[in-house]
Amino acid sequence: MKIEFCGAATSVTGSCHLITTEKHKVLLDCGQFQGGKAMDALNYEEFPFNPADIDYVVLSHAHVDHCGRLPLLVKRGFRGRIYCTDATADLLSVMLKDCGYIHEKEAEWKNRKAERAGKAKTEPLYTVNDAVETLNYVTPVLYDQLVELNEEMRIVFNDAGHILGSAIIELWVEEEDNVSKIVFSGDLGMMDRPILRNPTLIKKADYVIMETTYGNRLHEKNSTSINQLIDIVLKTTRRGGTVVIPSFAVGRTQELIYQFNRFYEDNSEYKAELDKLFVYIDSPMATTATEVFKRNAQVFDEETKAYIMKGDNPLDFKNLKFTRTSEESRMLNLDPSPKIIISASGMCEAGRIRHHLKHNLWNPKSSIVFVGYQAEGTLGRLIVEGAKDVMLFGEEVHVNAEIYNLEGFSGHADRDGLLQWLRGFQNKPHDIFLVHGEPDSKHDFADTVKKELGWDCTVIEGISEFELAKETVMTMQEVAADVASKEQILSVRDRIADIHDDLEKILYNAQLAVGDRISPERMVEINNIVLELEKSALNLGSAVTEEDRSGETAV
Ligand SMILES: [Zn+2]
Repeated sequence: MKIEFCGAATSVTGSCHLITTEKHKVLLDCGQFQGGKAMDALNYEEFPFNPADIDYVVLSHAHVDHCGRLPLLVKRGFRGRIYCTDATADLLSVMLKDCGYIHEKEAEWKNRKAERAGKAKTEPLYTVNDAVETLNYVTPVLYDQLVELNEEMRIVFNDAGHILGSAIIELWVEEEDNVSKIVFSGDLGMMDRPILRNPTLIKKADYVIMETTYGNRLHEKNSTSINQLIDIVLKTTRRGGTVVIPSFAVGRTQELIYQFNRFYEDNSEYKAELDKLFVYIDSPMATTATEVFKRNAQVFDEETKAYIMKGDNPLDFKNLKFTRTSEESRMLNLDPSPKIIISASGMCEAGRIRHHLKHNLWNPKSSIVFVGYQAEGTLGRLIVEGAKDVMLFGEEVHVNAEIYNLEGFSGHADRDGLLQWLRGFQNKPHDIFLVHGEPDSKHDFADTVKKELGWDCTVIEGISEFELAKETVMTMQEVAADVASKEQILSVRDRIADIHDDLEKILYNAQLAVGDRISPERMVEINNIVLELEKSALNLGSAVTEEDRSGETAV
C-alpha cells in the first residue's frame, strides 16, 4: 500500500491524498487550490493520477479547498462513489453549484477580454451542470457508521468539529491478512465552540495524516473575541455607523448568527436600543447554508440542542433579516440607519461584501470587522494590514472606518488544539504526516510534537509518495464483529426514529381532537419527553459503539 500527497502538500489549499493498494485506489478529498493567480493555475493542471482509475473519494468536509475539484474529477472520467457525512452532502450541493456558477462567470469575463484582444477563448474549469452531475455520485453516510467500501476496506466518519458535517476519517485496509489503520484528520475545529461538537479523539492509528493550518499559532479566546465584537457593535451603532462583517458563507456566518441571537436575548437592559438594530445576512449562499444548518440539528452540540428543546431556534431571532435579491442588498446602503451587515466573500475578493465596503470604508462612523483568515494578496488582507486607499469597482476609496481583526472566531484548532488531538492516540502511530499548512507552520509543529510527545513527524513538502508498511492493529475478525454490532445499533436507532415519527403524528392528531384542552406548554412538554427519549437512545447507541470498537472513539 502506498500514499501519495497530491494537494495541500506545499501549503494549505487543494487537499487531495491518494491511497493505492494492489486492488483499489481511494482518494481522500479533492480540493481546489486558492490564493491568487499562480494557485488558481494549478486547478487546471492534470491530476497526478487517472481519474477513471479511482474507485472512491472519501470526503472530509464541504469547504472548497477540500471538495472544489470533485466536478473536475467527474468531468475527467471518475465514475466511482463519493462518501461523506449526510450534512456534508447537503452542503456539497450548495457549494459545488455555487463554484460551477463562479467558474462559468469567470470564463465569460475572461472570454470577453480575450475576444477584444483577438485571443483564443477559455473553457470554464467546470460548469453548474458538471456540479449537478457530480452530486449523482455522492453517497451520504452517518457519523460513527462503519462503512464497508469493498472486501478490503472499511471507513468511519468521526465528528471533526470544524464545520457542519466535517469529519475525521478512519480507514482500515486489509492486505494479506494484515489490517492497517489510517486516520485522516481533515480540518480540526476548536474545542468548546458553539453549535458544533468537539473534535473526536481517536485512540489508535498506524498512520496519521494531519492538518497544521495553525501549527505555530495560538488563538485568542473565543469568549474574548465575542465580547470585543459586542463592544464594537455598541460603540459603532451608537455613533450612527454601520458594522460590516466579511464572513465565510458556510460555518462562520452561522456562528455569528448564534452569538448575536444570544446577545439579543441576554441583554434585556439594552432592549429599547436593540429593538431598533437589525442584523442583515446579505449573501444568498449564506442564507441557503443557514437553512442546511437548521435541517441538520441532529449533529449540533448538547448546548445547542438544549436551546432547541426550549423551543428556541439558535439560528433565528426577531431582528435577523436575510436579504435574497440584489435589489434588497442595494437598499441596505440607501438606508442610513445603523445596522450590522454580514456578507460574503470572507476575504472580500468577490460578492456583495465589496459593495458594502465601498459604502462604508470611507465613513469614519462605520466599522469593518474581520473574523476569518485573510490570505496573502486578497483585498481583506490589504485592509487588515492598514491600507489607506483601496480600489473598488474602478474607484479609489479612502479608508476612514475603524478596522478590527478578531482571531478568536477561527474555525481551526490552534497549536495547542492540534497537540491535544494528537495526545488522544494511546501509542505513537507508525508515522504522522503533516499536511495542510505553510512550511513554517508544519516544521514548527513537528518540533513541538517532538518536544512534547517525543514523536517524530514527517513534514510533507510538495507532491510526494510513501510506501506504507503492513501493520496490524485489529484482526479482520474484530473488524467483522464491529460491523455486526454497528448494524444492530443502527437498526435500533432507526426503530426509535420511526417511533418518534409515529408519536409526532399521534400528538398532532391528539391536539386536533382535543382542541384547546391541552395547553401549548403541555404539548411542548410531551414533545420534549419524546426528544429526551430519542436522545438517550442515541447516547446509548454511541456508548455501545465505543465499547464495541474497543474504545476507538472517545469524547
Ligand atoms: Zn475547512
